[in-house]
Amino acid sequence: MAKSGILFVISGPSGAGKGTVRGKVMEREVGLAFSVSATTRVPRPGEIDGLHYHFITKEEFEKMIENGDFIEYVAKFQNYYGTPKAQVESLLADGKDVLLEIETIGANNVRRMFPDAVMIFITPSTFEELERRLLYRGTESEKLQKLRLRIAKKEYKSMRRYDYIAINDDLDQCVSLICSIIKAERAKRSRNKDIVEQFNQIK
Ligand code: 5GP
Repeated sequence: MAKSGILFVISGPSGAGKGTVRGKVMEREVGLAFSVSATTRVPRPGEIDGLHYHFITKEEFEKMIENGDFIEYVAKFQNYYGTPKAQVESLLADGKDVLLEIETIGANNVRRMFPDAVMIFITPSTFEELERRLLYRGTESEKLQKLRLRIAKKEYKSMRRYDYIAINDDLDQCVSLICSIIKAERAKRSRNKDIVEQFNQIK
């Protein structure tokens, strides 16, 4: 049977730096496909449709829910976010490794559907630092920042379900750590049965 790809999930609270880390990991790690999420949120300056997100309307999103087109989705921060199913499934079936960068409720749902997914939780080393980053983000209203902070506190409760914790105090170190995790997961014996088999057959 053809080897299927590995599903990597980067998650953690808002302000942990998931988006930045994901961008750098994608630049550095070859053979990794990023799953572009769909969202009803308005694009921020510089965000490109189809690259950062598929920006769609609420009606389009709800139609996709109805059609069962998402692996997971959440209604959060007054918007919908979801992982489209078709692309992820076909990449994995073709043996390509896929990276998702999603919030924790979605990540929990992915874990349930894909028990072999490699789950990585990103966080700064202290909650004070997360708070500082959220408050200085500057792209959102105060009300929304406070809401994200409240949600972040809850998100830490799901940390124990993850395979890896990646501290993001220093961006480069965090990116290197995640690239190492990806390499180590790819090298696992359980994911390389064909090679083991090949050598086992030597007489
Ligand atoms: P932002 O609005 O800052 O781009 O994203 C808000 C949150 O939604 C982030 O924590 C981001 O990781 C998460 N997110 C982005 N895409 C998805 C998705 O497809 N599913 C889920 N569950 N969360 C997502």
